[in-house]
Amino acid sequence: MAVILDGKKLREKVLSQLKLKLDKFDSKPALVVILAGENPASKIYVNNKKKTAENLGINSIVINYPSNVSEKELLTKIEELNNDKNITAILVQLPLPEHISKENVINAISPQKDVDGFTPYNFGRLFSGEEPLVYPCTPKGVLIMLDEYGIKLEGKHVVVIGRSNIVGRPLAQMLLNRNATVTICHSKTENLAKITKTADIVISAVGKNIIEGEMLKSGCVVIDVGIFKDESGKTRGDVDFESVSQVASHISPVPGGVGPMTIASLMLNTVELFEKNSL
Ligand code: NAP
Repeated sequence: MAVILDGKKLREKVLSQLKLKLDKFDSKPALVVILAGENPASKIYVNNKKKTAENLGINSIVINYPSNVSEKELLTKIEELNNDKNITAILVQLPLPEHISKENVINAISPQKDVDGFTPYNFGRLFSGEEPLVYPCTPKGVLIMLDEYGIKLEGKHVVVIGRSNIVGRPLAQMLLNRNATVTICHSKTENLAKITKTADIVISAVGKNIIEGEMLKSGCVVIDVGIFKDESGKTRGDVDFESVSQVASHISPVPGGVGPMTIASLMLNTVELFEKNSL
């Protein structure tokens, strides 16, 4: 039976260490989260971020816009926040309403306040093998988890499934920067199981139940980033926990795996930007 990679426990450890650090600061970071529209999942994520930040003593401001907000209005607000020296971190909750260009909005955030690490400056540095100001939160959380459980990356074959800008692409690049041998799979990949069978580590970020035990090499590590509700309303991940936990050496559960690590990483990033910008 596989070792469970406990994201909840690790989040508490990361956050309690961060709180000790923050308690010594004379002034505190201020994180602004912009939420446009009524997406129920986004509202839950934003509330969790606000609550976690407040528990740490980080100033947390949520700016809500209706779903018909104009792109111009968002860009004007971001410009204002970029110029406000009391604000140290800006996050735009995705997805945005369809009429708004995600690229335009993200590109407007100052890289020094880009707490998700999504702006072209931070992405460009990551993809050129240099240090960005901060790393994207979900990939960062996955790496913290692998490191905590002593899972070596150098020389290992890691198969990342999913190539979004939020998870798959930056994660693959971060693994490459850590000297893993990385294969990226996606919806057009042929014979996924043949590829996953050769992996030492499989990281799935798809949003569909696609990984079964028989697709894996015995003793591999499986990280499940996916999270969605099935037809019965139950929260699920990409991985069939029952069959995979019989084959893998380590497995991250859903819920309680990568999700809590994403929020811990956001808090780490908020503090890292604050420290970098107050030097
Ligand atoms: P996304 O933008 O929809 O990307 C999904 C990726 O999966 C795409 O690259 C897609 O390929 C690929 N894909 C779809 N069907 C596939 C298949 N049958 N076989 C192989 N690849 C397939 O989603 P995302 O934003 O990256 O999120 C992925 C999942 O992670 C979602 O469930 C999301 O809720 C979850 N998530 C969790 C956290 C967390 O903190 N736990 C954070 C972020 C996201 P193409 O590129 O070819 O379309």
